[in-house]
Amino acid sequence: MKGTSFMTKKTDQSNAFARTSRVVIKIGSALLVDRTTGLKKEWLDSVCADIARLRARGIEVLVVSSGAIALGRSVLKLPAGALKLEESQASAAVGQIALARAWSQSLDRDGIVAGQVLLTLGDTEERRRYLNARATLKQLLSLKAVPIINENDTVATTEIRYGDNDRLAARVATMIGADLLVLLSDIDGLYTAPPHLDPAAEFLPVIPEITPEIEAMAGGAASELSRGGMRTKIEAGKIATASGCAMLIASGKVLNPLASIEDGARFSRFEAAKSPVNARKTWIAGQLHPAGELHVDTGAETALLSGKSLLPAGVRRIEGHFSRGDTVAVYGPDGLEIARGLAGYDDGDARQIAGRKSGEIENILGYAGRSAMVHRDDLVLTGHAALDREAKKGRKNAHG
Ligand code: GLU
Repeated sequence: MKGTSFMTKKTDQSNAFARTSRVVIKIGSALLVDRTTGLKKEWLDSVCADIARLRARGIEVLVVSSGAIALGRSVLKLPAGALKLEESQASAAVGQIALARAWSQSLDRDGIVAGQVLLTLGDTEERRRYLNARATLKQLLSLKAVPIINENDTVATTEIRYGDNDRLAARVATMIGADLLVLLSDIDGLYTAPPHLDPAAEFLPVIPEITPEIEAMAGGAASELSRGGMRTKIEAGKIATASGCAMLIASGKVLNPLASIEDGARFSRFEAAKSPVNARKTWIAGQLHPAGELHVDTGAETALLSGKSLLPAGVRRIEGHFSRGDTVAVYGPDGLEIARGLAGYDDGDARQIAGRKSGEIENILGYAGRSAMVHRDDLVLTGHAALDREAKKGRKNAHG
């Protein structure tokens, strides 16, 4: 399979946590909550015993736990099926309190203190709040507590939510500089096609890089209990690996799932990028909702790909409303994303100087602004463009 970026051969999986000093473990709702019997206490105790063992080896552990909504709806006896937003919010309020108590009690069996952290989208997307949330998590770790993190679903609305804990966990992992993110769910890894639909689907133990080909393997499937499917897991992988954090997808359907991983249960490992971008650029690249779009010409695209700043002259079109300092996505002439960066101008001013020389800025705006629309220090190549282009070329060639 020339040119593919995955391996189907078995690799040595026994040292999954080797060289790991800080790990984020994400736990899906379906593992923790049974629709009829509620919280799966025995399973939770077994995970907490695994966490205690990792900590005894000097590994710092953070948990992103789903299950608030699933648990709350079972306590409130809401009927099966999709919930309205207010029902989800109420379920989360009831479920989160029980979920946090359960974690705290289970970890306490090994003398470990738990700390509840509820995040909203702004806590990772706004720089000041991001630094604040990071400081809290660091403090908890230095006090030897295990942060138990979830989205604050009680106040999250459709527009301002992560919606899935896969990406939330990836944002947490990059925020705290974890070297490993483990997604425990009801599937044991990535397959070339959804295994329940395609018996020829092959399991992929190692994914050195997330290419468009890998992305295409992720169907959209999600269950009623959990929001994330394989697609959000791949999205999480992109966020984590770009910042130098490896990611495992493993089955949590057994007791002691983390010990099982080390005992030979299979999993897919997404390798961390070889040259991760720095912390600030990690934050820029991982932004879930860029505020605007800058569409640029070929000259600007070439300049960006060679590490230069984006000048107003190369900007053809601007979409969205943003303020200076907001994250914007930069698209090439073929409509594919090239980069993300912090806007040097509000969108109104940016529209006025788009397509104009930097020397004209003062005349147009009435003040001497920055010469760059996005400065290279605030810019990170998101790489999709180059990869997508390769994939397109491949498809064209295949069709003659
Ligand atoms: N935050 C949601 C909850 O605790 C779960 C989101 C997800 O399933 O990814 O219920």
